[in-house]
Amino acid sequence: MGNIIDGKALAAKIKAEIKEEVSGLNSKPGLAVIQVGDDPASKVYVGGKEKDALEVGFHSEIHRLPADTKQETVIELINELNEKKEINGILVQLPLPKHLNEELITNTIDPLKDVDGFTYNSAGRLFTGSKCLVACTPSGCIEMIKSAGCEIKGKNAVVIGRSNIVGKPMAILLLQEHATVTICHSRTQDLPSITSKADILVAAIGKTKFVKADMVKQGAVVIDVGMNRDENGKLCGDVDFENVKDKASYITPVPGGVGLMTRAMLMKNTLEAYKMQLSGGK
Ligand code: NAP
Repeated sequence: MGNIIDGKALAAKIKAEIKEEVSGLNSKPGLAVIQVGDDPASKVYVGGKEKDALEVGFHSEIHRLPADTKQETVIELINELNEKKEINGILVQLPLPKHLNEELITNTIDPLKDVDGFTYNSAGRLFTGSKCLVACTPSGCIEMIKSAGCEIKGKNAVVIGRSNIVGKPMAILLLQEHATVTICHSRTQDLPSITSKADILVAAIGKTKFVKADMVKQGAVVIDVGMNRDENGKLCGDVDFENVKDKASYITPVPGGVGLMTRAMLMKNTLEAYKMQLSGGK
């Protein structure tokens, strides 16, 4: 069996390092999370973020707004948080209720406080290689690959999925690390012929146990971003773990993998945002 990259242990290590650094600061970094409506999954995610923020010693604010909140009210709140000194990071929990313009709301966040890395400013900076806050899930995946001691430079990396929040930024980060990157999607022809050449394979599809052993190169590093429910309601990834684990050299489990790292990277981004704001955005 391949080695498991333990997201739980790695996330705990990152959070412990942040906590240590925060204990030596003159003021607490602050994270504000906005949740509109009472989507049960969002509630769990927001609760997790609050728990992590308090654990590492941040100031934490959760703004829970009713589902029928007007767009202007959300924008007004973000503008207030943009100005608020105690807040260094702002995150709007997605998805938002249908009547709200997600694009407009996300892009109201000051790029220096954009700890999710979803604003056009952050995405553009990532694309051009300028300093920015990077989306937490892909940056967490890079940390996981590096933690296993796997070289990225010069390797063939394949990303399945081209969403703005995972697939595309993932591909850019792998490119920055000097991998040769291929992005696959639903119109890709003969997907297995491409994925089976990947030294590093990242699955961000949203389809339960989609990646099977015959799609994976012997000894590949397999990163599973998927968060799906199987027929029994059990959390599982995009990779058929039992089927693939013997072929991979390293593999991330679900649960216990990328999801926990995403949370840890949000804390890392908030500390980074705090430092960027102290140094006037440099
Ligand atoms: P998304 O926006 O739905 O994107 C899915 C991507 O997969 C699309 O680019 C789609 O291609 C591609 N795809 C779908 N079917 C395919 C197929 N048969 N062959 C090849 N490609 C196919 O999803 P997302 O937001 O990127 O999320 C992906 C997964 O990651 C979901 O399970 C989500 O829950 C999970 N996720 C986890 C975390 C975490 O913290 N662990 C964070 C974010 C997301 P097209 O573009 O052609 O439609």
